[in-house]
Amino acid sequence: MTLRAALFFLVTHALVIALIGPQDPIGSFLLLMAAPLLAALACVRRARDSRAACKWRLLGFAVGLFSIALLAQLYRIADGGGQAQMPLSSLILYVFYRIPLTYVAASPGGGNRYVRAVDLSIIALLWLLYYVHTRALVHLDAALWMQGLNAMSTVQNGLVFCFALIRFLAEDNADRRDFFRTLTTYALGYFLLAFYINHYQPQVPDGGWGDLLISGLFVLLAVMASSPWRPPAVAVSRNLRRVVDAGVPLMLPLLLMMVALLVSRLHPTLAIVGFIGAMLGYALRSVLTQVEIQRQRDELEALARRDPLTGLGNRRNFDESLGSAHRRARRQGLGLAVLMIDIDHFKRLNDTYGHPEGDRRLRAVAGILDGCLQRGDDLLARYGGEEFIAALPSPDIAHALSLGERLRAAVETAGLPAAEAVVTISIGVAWQAARENGDPRDLVDRADQALYRAKHAGRNRVHGAPAATAGSERPDRRA
Ligand code: GH3
Ligand code: MG
Ligand code: MG
Repeated sequence: MTLRAALFFLVTHALVIALIGPQDPIGSFLLLMAAPLLAALACVRRARDSRAACKWRLLGFAVGLFSIALLAQLYRIADGGGQAQMPLSSLILYVFYRIPLTYVAASPGGGNRYVRAVDLSIIALLWLLYYVHTRALVHLDAALWMQGLNAMSTVQNGLVFCFALIRFLAEDNADRRDFFRTLTTYALGYFLLAFYINHYQPQVPDGGWGDLLISGLFVLLAVMASSPWRPPAVAVSRNLRRVVDAGVPLMLPLLLMMVALLVSRLHPTLAIVGFIGAMLGYALRSVLTQVEIQRQRDELEALARRDPLTGLGNRRNFDESLGSAHRRARRQGLGLAVLMIDIDHFKRLNDTYGHPEGDRRLRAVAGILDGCLQRGDDLLARYGGEEFIAALPSPDIAHALSLGERLRAAVETAGLPAAEAVVTISIGVAWQAARENGDPRDLVDRADQALYRAKHAGRNRVHGAPAATAGSERPDRRA
């Protein structure tokens, strides 16, 4: 709704009130009903290009319900019932209207479906309390009835405004911030309007000037929802964001407790159900959220240890697992072998075939190495650019060298095209007996030195590192 259309609407409403007035309130009522309908349409349209689409739709739905509540009142007037007593159907609809509004202001959103199910259960309980309370109030004498309704309405409207404001202040996503800005403005307007009507003009809507205030609020909502203007992005303090994120799940249970408190005089049992529901709901939500956080943490932990290109473990994974691989090998009475593996002339391969093709070769080599090392105790990781490393239990250096030879031969016979014939690898092998107490990290250094020598000796070969104690050099292997 444009500003001009809004002004036209309000001027028309003012004219209808001025010319006809409360004598025949139907004209004013029709315009009053149209205002929330226009606001609802604007919210639903706004959902189309917003990342807070679900929130906008829910707000539109809530406002649409308000319009239907007015329709029930209009029906009563047209039926000759007057507007002295609000029909029960309208009352229930006004209660209904607050449910999606409350949900949108107080539900944290996101989360998995179980968390959402808990939120919806709290909302359902809240609705049950509203409903039973409202129905019970209808049977009380007029003064108590008004008093009870006013108290509930003030608490609900006030809390919805507070929740919306808190979320607006802590929101850094532009779309959601814009939504909560609109919701905060609307909720504040509604709170003030309801307070004014409840205390000073209980007959509104009555075809008088009070009606213009109500349609004015909904027209304002329609204008805000249709406005192309977006609030500028702001840097929200991280601490504020964290506190609000952690505190938002408290909002719905808190609201349920407040309403249970209001209900407690007329329905003590229902109030207890409300309190228990609020506490259980919050506890259940906390447990589910903790499980979700734990799952995400495990996923991140696994991601932090994996090389995304080859799917193998990364260097961090290798460094953290080496100690336990060493202990496992010793428990089996075996030594530990470390193989440092490097692709030969990989830079040339990249230069000849391009980087993406280089990546494909890297993945292929990783697959071949992984296929050759299939025992659960074998550790294989991508150690750097085109370097891999393996650690595994091995009875002696001869066994470790023959394994290295198997890897080298497997890559060569795979026949992956390279700048010079096929892709080949060089391997440095270091081994430590089970009885030796040396740091397994020294094995990595020794394997690296052996690899260096394998490169110097002509590449496409396996070179053994000298034994740490004897200092004797092992023979090279080459197919
Ligand atoms: P050498 O036989 O002595 O090992 O020679 P080299 O060319 O393999 O070794 P060098 O260290 O000179 O070059 C390694 C190359 O590996 C350089 C770098 O562009 C490439 N490389 C490192 N990581 C990646 C990667 O993730 N993808 C691709 N395609 N290339 C990579
Ligand atoms: Mg290389
Ligand atoms: Mg290298």
